[in-house]
Amino acid sequence: MTLPASLESAPLAVIIDLVRSGRAATRPELGVVTGLGRKVVTQRVDQAISLGLLEDGELAPSSGGRQARTLRFRARAGYVYGALVGASEFTAAVLDLDGALITSHHEDWNVDRGPEPTMSRLEAAFAGLARATGLTRPWGIGIGMPGPVEFATGRLVAPPIMPGWDGFSVRSWFRDHYDAPVWVDNDVNLMALGEWTAGKPHDGRDMLFVKAGTGIGAGLINRGRLLRGDRGAAGDIGHVHVSSDPAALCRCGRTGCLEAVASGWSLLEEATRRIAESPRLSLPLTLGKIGAAAAAGDPLAVELVETRVQALAEVVAHLVNFTNPGVLVLGGGALRTGPRFIEMIAEAVLARCTDLVTRDLVIRPASLDQMEGVIGAGLLAGAGLLNPSSLTQWAESGSPLGHAADLQRLSAELT
Ligand SMILES: [Zn+2]
Repeated sequence: MTLPASLESAPLAVIIDLVRSGRAATRPELGVVTGLGRKVVTQRVDQAISLGLLEDGELAPSSGGRQARTLRFRARAGYVYGALVGASEFTAAVLDLDGALITSHHEDWNVDRGPEPTMSRLEAAFAGLARATGLTRPWGIGIGMPGPVEFATGRLVAPPIMPGWDGFSVRSWFRDHYDAPVWVDNDVNLMALGEWTAGKPHDGRDMLFVKAGTGIGAGLINRGRLLRGDRGAAGDIGHVHVSSDPAALCRCGRTGCLEAVASGWSLLEEATRRIAESPRLSLPLTLGKIGAAAAAGDPLAVELVETRVQALAEVVAHLVNFTNPGVLVLGGGALRTGPRFIEMIAEAVLARCTDLVTRDLVIRPASLDQMEGVIGAGLLAGAGLLNPSSLTQWAESGSPLGHAADLQRLSAELT
């Protein structure tokens, strides 16, 4: 049965959540926010401290009377594993409960090698990180995948660039291998979450994150919450129809998709076909090589990159008009093609969007050195463990270890 995270039934969990979320910083503030008496607050805070989940911090600024000591959530009371899987690489990491990186590992890996080899490779990476740190029992696991993920089940649904993955449950695989709850999301959603939470500058404004790399996607944070839509597919802009050219074949089987005319994979295909036109490019081509050639002024690379950025910019301008973000963040491998990428997107947004939309709009590159996605994966697991309903399940025992099945069931009910 799901316990409601109410003050009456679970004051300990509620108090821990208030401190962790920053809504109360001292014992007197906890008393004001909860309406609990001083004695009860003191008892529950002492309990949380003895469980290792809260600690005393410095003295709060005086408001006239005696100075109260601030309380802090101990983000290193536990840790989570996070991974961000891309089309041709992955990053695995150990992170604290607030998504701060403890250690990480990056590896080139083609996801089209299929689910079982990819999952085994990820597990081996986690095992290596565990050996290096001694952190062998994660409280939870967060995974980002480069395709549509049904959020409630952690299942891939018809991912266009991942043959053999349709219907595969990343969650079930990890639940069979670890005694920890597992949350799975689309890669760009987690990039948006990571950048919004840990990116610089942090201003808390609504954020539209657009990733342009091998694939194209978007993630939207509205009022601090990730917009997933009904099943988890919100922001999957790679397959909106933008071209009536019947030759613009997409990997999803349709024609005219944004990815067919603007993605990294379409860039690789066309550059390979037309390589004789470039004095600078040589086989085998990579997106990194084409990006460097474009940044250096190679005419073919510039032409191919700019036609793609232009197609992407039109769609991004629609999205900005529709969602009115405070910040538009651009991420993914396209950043490596040079400053023209962001300039062209900004030009299109400024030309196409209404005045009220662009008035205070900030347009900037992602700020976390390509780590925003794996940080988002850690934050996803942290959120699954630390929301008030989850805390209610395990706060009394001081750790979610041993509660994995309950927490997983609970998260299914919450989504
Ligand atoms: Zn498509």
